[in-house]
Amino acid sequence: MISENIKEVETRLSAASAKRPDGFAEAKLIAVSKTKPIEMLKEAYDFGCRDFGENKVQELCDKIPQMPDDVRWHLIGHLQTNKVKYIVGKTYLIHSVDSVKLAGEIQKEAEKKQCDVDILIEVNVAQEDSKFGVSVTQAPALIREISQFPRVHIKGLMTIAPYTEDAETNRVFFRQLRDLSVDITSKNIDNVSMNVLSMGMTGDYEVAAQEGASYVRVGTGIFGERNYAVTL
Ligand SMILES: *Cc1c(COP(=O)(O)O)cnc(C)c1O
Repeated sequence: MISENIKEVETRLSAASAKRPDGFAEAKLIAVSKTKPIEMLKEAYDFGCRDFGENKVQELCDKIPQMPDDVRWHLIGHLQTNKVKYIVGKTYLIHSVDSVKLAGEIQKEAEKKQCDVDILIEVNVAQEDSKFGVSVTQAPALIREISQFPRVHIKGLMTIAPYTEDAETNRVFFRQLRDLSVDITSKNIDNVSMNVLSMGMTGDYEVAAQEGASYVRVGTGIFGERNYAVTL
């Protein structure tokens, strides 16, 4: 079942990605495996998945030693400063940095461990009260400040679009994130690149890919519905 789901998502993703604007990379799939047992991750791995997304530090730390070393782990959920020490050095990319304080903590921990940490800036494009992330207007100043941390490297932007039945209504938000990345690229800030746009989930990944997503984060579409009551 998982392999068929991945096949279907990959097929739709490459069709959607073919319509992306010039100059943007083809969208890659991150399999969002939060709440799912390791057997399911292994099935996805055996089918070729190497990028996995988790939203909780504890769960991520539990799963890392149970999976092969060539997995690229993406932390996609909100990161609290007191959890930073557990995660630095273990992720391929942290998608959810939205404050100088958090980036400063990552810097401190990375210095201790003598490693470098790649991150994305989470932007709350749709300005939903329930969501983390910096606003579009505050993002450039935040990025400038974070760029000063020598061990923290901004690679691009991430957004979580609103939940919707109609993916088309999120197109405007994906476009706004892309426009913001173009705007920041033009500022040529040292230690900042804008090659990564992490946007799109099960309900709207095709629209996100059409708008230039470099990563889409798909959970339900690969592993099925999450049942929090049972798994937590
Ligand atoms: C859970 C989660 C996803 C995946 O959501 P689905 O709708 O199951 O595809 C993507 N991004 C983030 C940040 C998430 O927390």
